[in-house]
Amino acid sequence: MPRILILGAGFGGLELSTLLSESLGDDAGVTLIDSGDAFVFGYSKLDVMFGRAALDEVQLPYADLARPGVRLLRETVTAIDPEGRRVTTDRGVHEADVLVVALGADYDFDATPGLLEHGNEFYSVAGAARLRELLPSFSSGRAVVGVCGAPFKCPPAPSEAALLLHDALSERGVRGNCEITLAMPFGTPVPPSPDTSAALLDAFAERGIEFVPGSKVSSLEPGVAVLEDGTELPFDLFLGVPKHRAPDVVLESGMAVDGYVPVDPGTLETRFDGVYAVGDVATVGVPKAGVFSERQARIVAASLVARVRGGSSSARYDGRGSCYIEFGVGRVGRVDVDFFSGPKPTGTLQEPSAALVAEKQHFGASRRARWFGLA
Ligand SMILES: Cc1cc2nc3c(=O)[nH]c(=O)nc-3n(C[C@H](O)[C@H](O)[C@H](O)COP(=O)(O)OP(=O)(O)OC[C@H]3O[C@@H](n4cnc5c(N)ncnc54)[C@H](O)[C@@H]3O)c2cc1C
Repeated sequence: MPRILILGAGFGGLELSTLLSESLGDDAGVTLIDSGDAFVFGYSKLDVMFGRAALDEVQLPYADLARPGVRLLRETVTAIDPEGRRVTTDRGVHEADVLVVALGADYDFDATPGLLEHGNEFYSVAGAARLRELLPSFSSGRAVVGVCGAPFKCPPAPSEAALLLHDALSERGVRGNCEITLAMPFGTPVPPSPDTSAALLDAFAERGIEFVPGSKVSSLEPGVAVLEDGTELPFDLFLGVPKHRAPDVVLESGMAVDGYVPVDPGTLETRFDGVYAVGDVATVGVPKAGVFSERQARIVAASLVARVRGGSSSARYDGRGSCYIEFGVGRVGRVDVDFFSGPKPTGTLQEPSAALVAEKQHFGASRRARWFGLA
């Protein structure tokens, strides 16, 4: 049996290790490494920030993860040698026949001077938890939701944050005293899907949310966000999406090109023999989102299961995925995107509805059950 080493127990690593365990059972021979205590769905950060869920409700502890054939190690990866398929952690050295890098994307807070000094970010669990304490005291003035770099995880999330902020302020009866501005580097909220972008722009217009497209936030001064094109946006509350980058350990490994790990988009193989990369850490040609990481992991799982059984897999990653979008007032939309099959990416909106709220809940519940055995 090959020794399979998976770095990162996020969307990609959890799905891959679950599938290998389901197919190969006790023989899977998987070691899964993560430095964290718990997995948190990206969208749960919005729930925490707006007080819709408590922090401990959204943390899925790795201690609950018990799968045949999967050994979970809570260690920090400090070096990766992709040629030798050798990984060093704070606890020791691990050698592998197959190495899968699923370490996600980190945040580069320092790339945006003043971000944490004068503003806030909601992309980390800690940042979302801090904002949960801060938001109730914001009752008048201008809130700016601003994106500090692209690519960033879950492109609809800043739009969701602006719409949910509108709801939170309305519920407290202070919306009339507040302005909301959303600034992002894209020309439209969800570029691959014109109908999703149009629906979001309509929702912003209905709610009086100002949309400032085409420029990232490059720095923050006290009470002012400065955009790359020189525009200054005064604010009383700043909710930021930090610039992203691959984890340092990946950048130092020599695997990255232009910031992330290039892969064959069909197979997720890197240029190193026996080394794959999936999800946000990789350049696959799709946005950074959990649904894409998960689907890529399925391709790697099919390939590894076939290899263990002495065959090969013809499954290729198709660049498709469905993302749920919070539109506020208890409605969720869904955009079904396809990045590979046509000359350019396409996306179709399923209109926001209460039914899709239930579907999104089922999406989360089914992963909690499959990955963690939680009801
Ligand atoms: C506000 C917000 C909303 C979002 N909403 C959605 C949504 O609705 N749908 C969706 O699909 N996606 C959403 N996302 C994006 C989604 O969370 C990520 O794209 C997804 O988690 C990426 O999966 P991954 O497996 O590639 O990486 P991750 O899930 O980030 O997993 C990487 C893992 O590697 C570990 N790690 C990193 N460095 C080390 C190291 N040196 N040593 C050991 N372990 C390490 C981390 O602890 C982490 O557990 C959202 C994100 C945010 C921030």
